[in-house]
Amino acid sequence: MTDPRNLRVAVIGAGMGGLGTALAFARKGFKHIDVFETASNLGFVGAGIQMPPNVIRVLDRLGVWEEIGREATNVKGTSIRQGSTDKELARVDMPDMEEKYGYPHCTGHRSSLASGLFNGCKQEPAIQFHFSTSLVSIDLYEPRPVFTVKPRDGEPYQVETDVLLAADGIKSVTRTQMMAKLGYVSEAQDTGQAAYRIMLKRSEMEHDPELRALIDSDTVVRWIGERRHIIAYPVSNKQIYNISTTQPDDNFAAATNATYTTKGSKSAMLGVFADFCPLVHRMLDLVPNGEVCEWKLRTHKPLPTWVLGAVALVGDACHPTLPHLSQGAAMAIEDGAVLAECLSRVPLPSDHGDAAQTAAAVNRALKVYEQLRRDHTYALVDLAALSGRTLHLGEGKAKEERDREFAEHRRNGRVPDKWASPDVQKMIYSHDCVKETSEKFDKIWATLA
Ligand SMILES: Cc1cc2nc3c(=O)[nH]c(=O)nc-3n(C[C@H](O)[C@H](O)[C@H](O)COP(=O)(O)OP(=O)(O)OC[C@H]3O[C@@H](n4cnc5c(N)ncnc54)[C@H](O)[C@@H]3O)c2cc1C
Repeated sequence: MTDPRNLRVAVIGAGMGGLGTALAFARKGFKHIDVFETASNLGFVGAGIQMPPNVIRVLDRLGVWEEIGREATNVKGTSIRQGSTDKELARVDMPDMEEKYGYPHCTGHRSSLASGLFNGCKQEPAIQFHFSTSLVSIDLYEPRPVFTVKPRDGEPYQVETDVLLAADGIKSVTRTQMMAKLGYVSEAQDTGQAAYRIMLKRSEMEHDPELRALIDSDTVVRWIGERRHIIAYPVSNKQIYNISTTQPDDNFAAATNATYTTKGSKSAMLGVFADFCPLVHRMLDLVPNGEVCEWKLRTHKPLPTWVLGAVALVGDACHPTLPHLSQGAAMAIEDGAVLAECLSRVPLPSDHGDAAQTAAAVNRALKVYEQLRRDHTYALVDLAALSGRTLHLGEGKAKEERDREFAEHRRNGRVPDKWASPDVQKMIYSHDCVKETSEKFDKIWATLA
């Protein structure tokens, strides 16, 4: 096998990372891509998502942005407010994202993003989806990975492939098994934070002029308070207002590790934000009883490696993050694009029979991927955590200093809410992961000899 595009690629998970990875490989001309997903379909979470320029760049190259962008809101600024008073601490204008970074900063519905990726995948005969089918174990990591999957209503069976890419999320079975094989304990980390995700319909808000102004705006609003905040923005052509909160993880304290979501109580939710302003309360009051869902926000300690043999981790499986920088899905989709770029460049041995040499080349390309992504993604994970700590400060000197920085942000070009900070935006949004891969691949490849 001399053409890497003949390699068989298996992807575990059809979340943002898995869909992005499958599509990136297909667009590069890989001919055999199998995606295994536990759920019976895409199982859309009813929530919004921010799509920053760095991921729109990738989606555009994959040929799916036009469809996804049709429903998206082009964000023109952000307003960071004191939750208790609605007083604006800072307004950061973002009128020129496209001029600066080549692509806008948008918000959208998760289902738009996932369907756009899925529709792109469906145009590719090279991609086969296996829904209702879970990865159970990885039986061999090299030379050709062998893994066992179990269809929901069927008997387990083994699959052999050339490359196994595991985008199986924060609860990744692959990560756990890979770390155990390497002799490491795979440790999830409690962040002490949880999130409510809420979607309000336009018809529910438009009777109230202040609420209507929110859904009509091109602004992301963040109301902040001690140990909690709310972020909100319009999605779906401004027909839906998406609200995502962060608060202390009190309801999950006694839950098992496997439980990441729970039906929340509306009165508990209102209680968490009891001292927030009337505007926030009018908004939260619109949430129907019984439709409050709370997510436990978990992360993971940095891993010693993302690669073993011809198996690599992707997205939340290797760099789960708090959502405060709005980069989790973006990073997962970027991972897939970088992997496809790396694998398409693998010089394979011309000797058809030499599986060990092919496996060694695949492993080396996966290590290039890890080197390209590791420091960047872990830096963003740290920054998201730092931003959360800053946003959640209680009364005291540190908060006074933070609020002074908010007030002076136009002068010093830095905003304590790192998502909105022009210096951080420049670092993240100008990062072209595919261009970087094409520029650095040969050099990193050579160092891994
Ligand atoms: C409140 C909140 C707000 C967020 N906001 C943003 C935002 O604005 N912008 C942004 O970019 N990111 C955001 N994120 C982060 C983002 O949602 C995640 O980082 C992203 O979805 C990770 O994608 P993934 O594909 O790695 O994992 P997942 O989306 O978790 O997908 C994993 C998939 O693998 C499947 N799976 C799991 N185990 C198996 C198995 N054994 N076999 C087969 N299939 C399996 C699962 O069913 C799932 O479909 C937010 C996260 C939260 C919690």
